[in-house]
Amino acid sequence: MKWWRPTLVLLVLLLTIIGIRYFLVRPDPASVPVVVERTLMGTLWQIQVMPRGNDDRAGVEAVIQDAYRELERIDSVMSEWRQDSPITAINLNAGLGPVEVPEELAQIIRRSIEFSNATSGAFDISWRGAGQLYSLDEDFVPPDTEAIAEALKVVDYRRIEVIGSNVGIPGGYSLGLGGIAKGYAIDQAAKVLLDAGYSNLLVNGGGDILAFGTKGDRPWTIGIRAPRGTPEELMAKVRVAGAAVVTSGDYERFQLLDGVRYHHIIDPRTGRPAERTQSVTVIAAEAEKADVLATAFFVLGSQRALELASVYDVDTLIIDSDGKAWMTEGFATQAEFQPEFIEKYSP
Ligand code: ADP
Ligand code: MG
Repeated sequence: MKWWRPTLVLLVLLLTIIGIRYFLVRPDPASVPVVVERTLMGTLWQIQVMPRGNDDRAGVEAVIQDAYRELERIDSVMSEWRQDSPITAINLNAGLGPVEVPEELAQIIRRSIEFSNATSGAFDISWRGAGQLYSLDEDFVPPDTEAIAEALKVVDYRRIEVIGSNVGIPGGYSLGLGGIAKGYAIDQAAKVLLDAGYSNLLVNGGGDILAFGTKGDRPWTIGIRAPRGTPEELMAKVRVAGAAVVTSGDYERFQLLDGVRYHHIIDPRTGRPAERTQSVTVIAAEAEKADVLATAFFVLGSQRALELASVYDVDTLIIDSDGKAWMTEGFATQAEFQPEFIEKYSP
């Protein structure tokens, strides 16, 4: 027998096995999500939907486009950066009396005020009065204490007047829904998909996520960034089904000046960027609640955040300004921490 014959037989066998495996393991189209990405509300969105049985992918994509139309609609009502939005109409009419706005907008403002009451004013959509001091662009100059004191005169959720669908604010006041509208929009986009009969889906608005069901035979898994790491460096992963995972951090938009980190989450009581926290992740049934509480917890700091988490029945992970981790028991059981963070965060 020639020496190469067994080698040849083996090689043919191996190629056959690889071939069979390729055909067997090749993913079934129904286990691959239809994914559509878009830039909206100043951030990158991604919607993933698992097709059902015999769905053709074009049909699924059409429903995803409906969800995006809903996002555009919400943005056109709630963006304070658009000149023609109803929220801008309220701001332009500050001090001149209430304006009639769509019921949906009046309601989200009412819910915002309830969240303000429950968070001792840490969450406050009139934050914008002080937020305007922190442009955070290249030629940003930190405001002095007088400018801050002046700005704080136009920050107070108790001065927002909502009667039916009429909303009014005092002169100098300005409302901004950046801490709640994205969460609401995520819930509404998911609702479009659920109402169309899909049950396995994920809506991702700039890293804030709401997921239902599974991704084929695997759970939806969400990575949580380490606040002082690179964007790719994850500290933990959580599996979610029927819940939202939302993170607020001081690392997305910031300016470091003289060792002070100026960022986009304002403490309405001091008129300065909140200082107690590096990042907060909240897991809740709705994205709106998770979005609001992530911002409120960020301002309040770990102790009050943990108390409120139990009041609201949500799970949370807080990295405080010293880089120390605090979390609810539920968070610890749901999350899988990366090895180096288990060590770092163990008491
Ligand atoms: P994003 O998810 O957009 O990165 P966050 O969810 O962390 O941001 O919320 C921060 C945004 O909320 C800010 O960009 C601003 O629009 C708004 N905001 C800032 N401070 C407050 C506050 N104290 N209460 C309510 N909204 C706030
Ligand atoms: Mg948010």
